[in-house]
Amino acid sequence: MPDARLVDTKATFAAFSHVLDARLLRALADLGFARPTLVQTKAIPLALENKDILARAWTGSGKTAAYCIPLVQKVLNAKSGSTGSSENATRALILVPTRELSEQVSAHLKGLLKYCDPEIAVANVCSGNTNHLQRTVLADKPDIVIATPSRALSLLQSKVLSLTSLDSLVIDEADLILSYGHDEDIKQIFAGGHLPKVYQSFLMSATMTEDVETLKGLALRKPVILKLEEDED
Ligand code: ADP
Ligand code: MG
Repeated sequence: MPDARLVDTKATFAAFSHVLDARLLRALADLGFARPTLVQTKAIPLALENKDILARAWTGSGKTAAYCIPLVQKVLNAKSGSTGSSENATRALILVPTRELSEQVSAHLKGLLKYCDPEIAVANVCSGNTNHLQRTVLADKPDIVIATPSRALSLLQSKVLSLTSLDSLVIDEADLILSYGHDEDIKQIFAGGHLPKVYQSFLMSATMTEDVETLKGLALRKPVILKLEEDED
């Protein structure tokens, strides 16, 4: 559970029912998420307006759901909208520094997707899968892919992963990700012509560091900057 001080006591998830799918709201209720946290209240509506977002908020403040909820909603919108194609396509990429975090994010997403199965497919390509298994999983173009930057880059270079239909890119733990040796890989993901011209980016971080500034320059366009630390008394 998040720290009680990080919960938005004036808000409820039900108040988002005009923008969030009923299946997502049901899953949130099952998870015991009654009220959004402060970062979720701020990020979800902005994310659904397709803004690039830099969110700096403490560890434990619910940053995972702050990007996963709009990500899932956007995938549902894309699949059901009149412009939505029936063809499978990877629409969201979540970059994380470690395999351990990829598993946490994957579990979080599976909870949110409880009532959207099998409509939305998630692939965590950091887990100890063989190359062959990853190729098979990615051949179906899962809607949401979770990867470390090094794994994402190698899958992009070998054309096993395609991001031509990408709508959203997340860099989680942006303050740590470069220090895990992913520096060159991230730069190559942005420089290598792997990404479409237009997509939405999220940078999630507990602190504002030089590395976050570097990533901001690489990944974000006219971002909304959410800083939750100032709210602390
Ligand atoms: P952060 O990434 O900011 O460090 P997490 O996303 O890991 O934080 O969330 C911390 C914990 O709070 C997790 O166990 C998560 O399931 C829980 N949590 C997140 N949002 C809510 C919410 N709105 N209501 C209840 N629990 C929540
Ligand atoms: Mg986190």
